Amino acid sequence: MTQQTLLITGGAGFIGSAVVRHFIENTNQKVINVDKLTYAGNVESLESIASHPRYEFVHADICDGEAMAQLFAQYRPHAVLHLAAESHVDRSIDSPVDFINTNIAGTYTLLETALDYWRKLDKSAQAQFRFHHISTDEVFGSLGETGLFREDSPYQPNSPYAASKAASDHLVRAWHHTYGLPVLITNCSNNYGPYQFPEKLIPLMVLNGIEGKPLPIYGAGDNVRDWLFVEDHVRALQIVLAQGQPGETYNIGGHNEQTNIEVVGLICRLLDELLPESPHRPHCSLITFVSDRPGHDRRYAIDAGKIARELGWRPRETFETGLRKTLQWYLDNQNWCQRVLDGRYRRERLGTRGQA
Ligand code: NAD
Repeated sequence: MTQQTLLITGGAGFIGSAVVRHFIENTNQKVINVDKLTYAGNVESLESIASHPRYEFVHADICDGEAMAQLFAQYRPHAVLHLAAESHVDRSIDSPVDFINTNIAGTYTLLETALDYWRKLDKSAQAQFRFHHISTDEVFGSLGETGLFREDSPYQPNSPYAASKAASDHLVRAWHHTYGLPVLITNCSNNYGPYQFPEKLIPLMVLNGIEGKPLPIYGAGDNVRDWLFVEDHVRALQIVLAQGQPGETYNIGGHNEQTNIEVVGLICRLLDELLPESPHRPHCSLITFVSDRPGHDRRYAIDAGKIARELGWRPRETFETGLRKTLQWYLDNQNWCQRVLDGRYRRERLGTRGQA
């Protein structure tokens, strides 16, 4: 049997790097990681597999149609896992333009390239090909006290980030319905875990807590998010890619609704326990409240029943077990954190073998 080749976009990011590591470690597939290496891309997150013979890194922008066409022609992927995106809500509020370019125009460019490639495949390769678009529950807007996002919930994105991801979901769906491209869409709740960039809530609180810096929480800290350990997300993506029905959407979530203050409270409790000698105990004394983000969505919560019923996926980690693993990882990997915080991960760019 010929070796399968998976094209992963955004594989130097938080979730993308977990996907790359997982497919290298758990399958026989060749993995091509296409990443522009924005501030969020860090090849040091891929150190453990960087010299693996089935792994290649290509430094390219998904908005560059010629580079994408060349990539498809050279590597002939059996599937695309599309994760490349601008992903930070606060940055999208301050400067939406990169979100429009990468998330919308970049997804369009990738779809056009994939369609052109797919049309030239023979019938059996066409039937096997998948374009899997990785998206967020933020496209559904905000929930009240009750209710859950389902696959058929209306799209009501509130931030520029969510609106750009919603637009990309619609394009992917249209490329299936109009042109027949075999697509899959997954909408996932908030992820946490190792290698997350320290601007996001959980790593920011963990690293500030370790250093005894303030732990700033938006508003009253009562916004609710549904948290999923990143490796549970990655397993869900692998299952959807292998068994999902083309044209279908699957919601992925951890059944772990927590207010932000609960999240930070648990981080403080775990830090107290894991760092018994720390001069910053009790870490909860570091919590401060700052003015809320404009248009801050109140509550997100996912109904992940469809993927459980149809594909048999369920998360393995509870919030406490996943958070414990995450904290331990940040404590054991201070070097990775330091190189991100002082910018060396960008200046030195170790291990970018195979740049285009
Ligand atoms: P991230 O910001 O950590 O990583 C994004 C990666 O994309 C980076 O490596 C960056 O260099 C790359 N990239 C950005 N623009 C690019 C371009 N034009 N061309 C090529 N590469 C480019 O993001 P993440 O948190 O890992 O999220 C990955 C995907 O999952 C995104 O599509 C995001 O919308 C989605 N998602 C994230 C979460 C979450 O909680 N983090 C939840 C649900 C869905």
